[in-house]
Amino acid sequence: MQRYFLATENFKGDLVRLTGDEAHHIARVMRMAADDQIICCNESGKSAIVELTQVEKEEVYGRIRQWLDENSELPVEVTLAQGLPKGDKLEMIIQKATELGVTAITPVAMARSIVKLDPKKAAKKQERWKKIAKEAAEQSHRQRVPEIQSVQTLKELIKQAGPFDLVLAAYEEEGKSGNHEGLPELLSGVQEGSRILFVIGPEGGFSSEEIVMLKDAGIFPVSLGPRILRTETAGLYSLSVLSYHFELLR
Ligand code: SAM
Repeated sequence: MQRYFLATENFKGDLVRLTGDEAHHIARVMRMAADDQIICCNESGKSAIVELTQVEKEEVYGRIRQWLDENSELPVEVTLAQGLPKGDKLEMIIQKATELGVTAITPVAMARSIVKLDPKKAAKKQERWKKIAKEAAEQSHRQRVPEIQSVQTLKELIKQAGPFDLVLAAYEEEGKSGNHEGLPELLSGVQEGSRILFVIGPEGGFSSEEIVMLKDAGIFPVSLGPRILRTETAGLYSLSVLSYHFELLR
């Protein structure tokens, strides 16, 4: 069943109104008609089965038949602060991180990030990234679409780290030196509902100044194991660890 993420104003009592891309997808792409059923998710992450009552090109109406008791979100909120990687890798990271339950992704322009995003192109890129996140959330039956934030510098990111319950940086040197106990130890003290910020370096890793900056801000450098993972693997591995810890070990 197709899944659509709608703003609060699209819900009025048990009536649902879809416009724009969603209406186009239902009417033109899926060629749905009255009595067909879809799933609609609201901004608080609740999802319902909706029976279509009227399908026009630009507008589609439906009636809520049943609210669902879905539970496809991670029990912790995870923001992945991804050192800007080369080429289109970030698109793949966004897609896979969404499948793995990420709450938000913040691209971070780091010292060793090869790619320098042209501010004029950044807004267009962000729109594409948001679309990728939405499609991946639909495909993976998420109840929420991850937020894709604008590109920050590491300094800006650290300034916004205050509200997080735990801030970690996957640091390759921890991996190389065999100090693998940090992440398991830190996670053992984290409650469900906590907010976690996980910082991943770009292909070239963190500069020594960046690691000092992170440590000075009280951010824990942790190992992701003895192998050196590609930047696009590291964030996904981190999310997999969190899913294992908070969803499978329960
Ligand atoms: N250029 C670095 C080097 O040769 O040591 C490797 C950087 S690695 C390709 C990219 C990022 O993935 C790192 O900055 C780190 O955030 C993460 N990463 C990869 N392997 C890791 C590991 N074993 N432990 C912790 N972080 C790791």
